[in-house]
Amino acid sequence: MMPKIEPIYLKDYKKPDFEIKKIDLTFDLYEECTIVTNVMQIKKVADTNDIVLDTLDLELQELWLNDLKLNDTRYIITDEKLTILNVPKEFNLKIINKIYPQNNTELEGLYKSGSIFCTQNEPEGFRRITPYLDRPDVMSIFTTTVIADKSKYPILLSNGNKHQCHDFLNGRHGTTWIDPHPKPAYLFALVAGDLGSITDEFTTVTGEDIELNIYCDKGNEDRCHHAMKSLKEAMLWDEEVYGREYDLEIYNIVAVDSFNMGAMENKGLNIFNSHYVLADEDTATDANFMGIQAVIAHEYFHNWTGNRITCRDWFQLTLKEGLTVFRDQCFSADLNSKEVQRIEDVKTLRERQFVEDASPTSHPIQPKSYISMNNFYTATVYEKGAEVIRMIYTLLGKEKFRDATDLYFKSFDGQAVTTSDFLWAMSEASGIDLKQFESGWYNKKGTPILNVEQSFKDGTFTLKFIQEDDFYFPLKVGLIDADGREIVDEVLIIDAKEKTFVYENLSTMPIASINRDFSAPIILKESEKDFAFLMKYDTNSFNKYEATQNFAMQTLQDMINGLEIDEKFIDAYGYLLDLEIDNSYKALLLELPSVSAIMQTQKVVDFEIIYDAKERLAKHIASTYEEKLMGIYNSLDDLSIPNRAMKNRALRILSPLESDMVINLAKEQYKTSKTMTQRVVALDVLENISTYDAKDELEDFYNRYKTDTLVMNKYFAILASSDAKDVLKKVIKLQDDKVYDEKVPNLVRSLIGSFARNYKYFHAKDGSGYKFVADKIIAIDAINAQMASGLAGAFKVYDKMNEVNKSLMKKELQKILDTDGLSKNCFEIVGKILG
Ligand SMILES: [Zn+2]
Repeated sequence: MMPKIEPIYLKDYKKPDFEIKKIDLTFDLYEECTIVTNVMQIKKVADTNDIVLDTLDLELQELWLNDLKLNDTRYIITDEKLTILNVPKEFNLKIINKIYPQNNTELEGLYKSGSIFCTQNEPEGFRRITPYLDRPDVMSIFTTTVIADKSKYPILLSNGNKHQCHDFLNGRHGTTWIDPHPKPAYLFALVAGDLGSITDEFTTVTGEDIELNIYCDKGNEDRCHHAMKSLKEAMLWDEEVYGREYDLEIYNIVAVDSFNMGAMENKGLNIFNSHYVLADEDTATDANFMGIQAVIAHEYFHNWTGNRITCRDWFQLTLKEGLTVFRDQCFSADLNSKEVQRIEDVKTLRERQFVEDASPTSHPIQPKSYISMNNFYTATVYEKGAEVIRMIYTLLGKEKFRDATDLYFKSFDGQAVTTSDFLWAMSEASGIDLKQFESGWYNKKGTPILNVEQSFKDGTFTLKFIQEDDFYFPLKVGLIDADGREIVDEVLIIDAKEKTFVYENLSTMPIASINRDFSAPIILKESEKDFAFLMKYDTNSFNKYEATQNFAMQTLQDMINGLEIDEKFIDAYGYLLDLEIDNSYKALLLELPSVSAIMQTQKVVDFEIIYDAKERLAKHIASTYEEKLMGIYNSLDDLSIPNRAMKNRALRILSPLESDMVINLAKEQYKTSKTMTQRVVALDVLENISTYDAKDELEDFYNRYKTDTLVMNKYFAILASSDAKDVLKKVIKLQDDKVYDEKVPNLVRSLIGSFARNYKYFHAKDGSGYKFVADKIIAIDAINAQMASGLAGAFKVYDKMNEVNKSLMKKELQKILDTDGLSKNCFEIVGKILG
């Protein structure tokens, strides 16, 4: 059967016909089922007779309108709606219904992660719990009572402040929570379980004491301290930078293992994928620690940008996500290294969003239609959305931007608004007209291309910028003279298809450093350029990195076109090795462009050719600088994050040598490592050396961590991403491993997801990779549609592939589309890819 394909359009938005002033929920949790009692105070605000509530496979027990129990002549139940006929202007509605959280594998609505009851309601999970006006512009005051067996579920949580505890005779107990802030249903949360926890306290700027709790599986309490520290850092930062104070008596975070996304900002009760909570040096890498700090902050920041001010409809998702990602990026930059943070942010954008924007699933940060909203939690809405906010920040400047966010909070607190409302505040407070900005960046898809033409005559340097469209953006530009001195550093405004800037009275032609700090998320097209010069003299840390990447890319291009390796690049790379700069930054400078980045520069993609060029270049660098790299490796201790980053980089650069020396170095690092950061890199290097069989180390790692699912994700990812032979065979076999569980999204992502990003084997010319992943998508779609459509994203490169791969892909994509009972989620993504 084909799924119902009814796209929803932004242009069709209508205000709700009813307000729900209050909702009083009671959950009776049992092992076999849960009884939900939902009492709503409803008011009609439009001229209509019937109320149509959102629901899904409703199992109704009782329905009451005021004091009248309704029989089935008064209502209509369909798969997705409950319609109650002829309702008065104001009324109370009581719905009692039954749900089955223990059978819920989609992980939306109320479900069980292990023995813990938990929820995920964004975007449309709440309708799986009870009938409701499940749309973000219906905001209500929630009171929630959770009742369950006291010994199995001693901890009962929901949103807001704890109001009352109840004890019942039959070993059951209950807790009532009241959330005084009106909120949409997608922010509703409930947790019940026998959980461990750590507790702390934060005093706000006005002197309110807030109780902070982080809950986790018992035994993991010691791994929550970094998350707690990050939460307090985020609370302080939001007060200092945005003037935002927390607004409840308590802030709870719960870590669960089965979660579709990273984390969820439910009011006062964040629910997290345990990947973004639990960490200690033995089990988490430095990157994991940073990820936790960023995601804890992100969800906390949503309290104002998302919860207090929410989205009018789901087309506005970037209103809360773009802004909140921008806020967490700035937070991370303030607390850690600014230069590293910016490079990492841009890397993520290019690896994920640029690929998406060049594919058939490309969409503006504010999409105009969708079939399944779950498919629009994308890199475009989030990461490009954050870049768009960053451009506004650059255009306004720090102080005006703060004035503008103050105005935004003041004007729209407690409301569900649109991106235009946000832009109104930005414009109003700064006096800058953002109409042209909005029409380009919010409404158009694709990555703008900016062509640069430069000329120098009689001491006058001319920079001409040409774009196909008329996007409006800030462009940070620097000019460096022939002696390596910076003579200009400024922000230019590009607001037309052609724009020319002239610099006079120069003695020699300067070298231009364009789009510093990646001030606009565009693709820059420049003619021949002296990258080696910029690698040396650019004062902008981001553009120094760009010059390195561009030079490497140019070298790889030449190699793909049959030319020899450019020794000038090899020399410039050697120069970087000698630099005395922060080691985290240096480790990034020395990283060669990823296969995905190289792929994006090809008209027709053939991964075999890309791998061949990259492997040859890497080998040449390793043999040229073997001695120097060994020197760096041996000179560094492993006590700090930057040192570990550089040490690991040196080991990775050396690894293509595949010599006994490298093998011994990696083996020794694996054996003596005191942190996961070093252990996991050593293991990955060994697994990828074709002259070595890493089975001892893999076995050791497995035995050490087999009871720790989070670490086992790393194990599966290393094996599925490997360059070694027979990867697909190994991945197929690993599915039978005791640790692997197809119902846990993290494990699916680390094994199947990693394989789908292993371009070498996913794109194998015998079609085996495509067939395997397509079959998995079909199987997983029946369990968890959101997870399946996520995996289907691996096929996004379809349009750009060579004919051989393309026809193999087409066969598998068609097979997915022809599957009986395919979800809307997969139908939408695969349908778009096939056109
Ligand atoms: Zn978010």
